[in-house]
Amino acid sequence: MKEITITPVRYFDDNYAYVVHHTRFDLTAVIDCGDSGPVLDFLDRKHWRPDLLLLTHSHYDHAGDVEGLKTEFPETVVIKPAGETRIEGADREITDGDTVTFGDYRFTVVSTPAHTRYCTCYVLQDHLFVGDVLFSMGCGRLFEGSAADLVAVMDKLRTFPDQTRIYFGHEYTLENFDFARAVEPDNRDLVAYERVVSEKLDQDGLTTPTTLAWEKKINPFLRIDQPAVIAYLDPDRRLTRTMRMALLRSRKDDF
Ligand SMILES: [Zn+2]
Repeated sequence: MKEITITPVRYFDDNYAYVVHHTRFDLTAVIDCGDSGPVLDFLDRKHWRPDLLLLTHSHYDHAGDVEGLKTEFPETVVIKPAGETRIEGADREITDGDTVTFGDYRFTVVSTPAHTRYCTCYVLQDHLFVGDVLFSMGCGRLFEGSAADLVAVMDKLRTFPDQTRIYFGHEYTLENFDFARAVEPDNRDLVAYERVVSEKLDQDGLTTPTTLAWEKKINPFLRIDQPAVIAYLDPDRRLTRTMRMALLRSRKDDF
């Protein structure tokens, strides 16, 4: 995939949009656009035009500035999850399993309702764009879905190949370390991952992307069946998986 480049673009305090460029076909896709300014600046520097805008969910910091991009580039095809009426200015609706053509590649749509009812991820080969569905060592709050929805989403994400690169919507990695350590104080992979993160931060200040291989080892929300996480949540082993997930999410909310 040398002909595909993926660049994170920071905006607001900690948000990420991603610009995906196909060099051979000279095509560009943007994932999320809560603030078009930094995205347009980056596209301008590269002399790229956005062919696609793929939206992960309705929150303003992800889908709140479609208009800004469309004003500059009216021909951009804006894609949103089917059923999501809170996003304005979309040209096409997609749902689980749909594909979006990108030259000789395609994005595959993965519905992941939990953070919001219509949260959607997009997969391009080994690259998975997750919005607020997953963060490094964390996941999005349950604004509209249930703990059972979150279990289903985490189980779905776990089915992707380990080498999958995960591009998340917020730079929360350092904050999430503290909670992950509280859940699993003896998890040695957290110590190793801290070195990886500090190298990344020294390089460019960004911890995205992470990989599914790492997250399976360090992200408590992908680890509710691990003995150490069960010991933290439910030492007497009385809870179902869904109850464990609900408790984990509420402890994170109160952390
Ligand atoms: Zn959100």
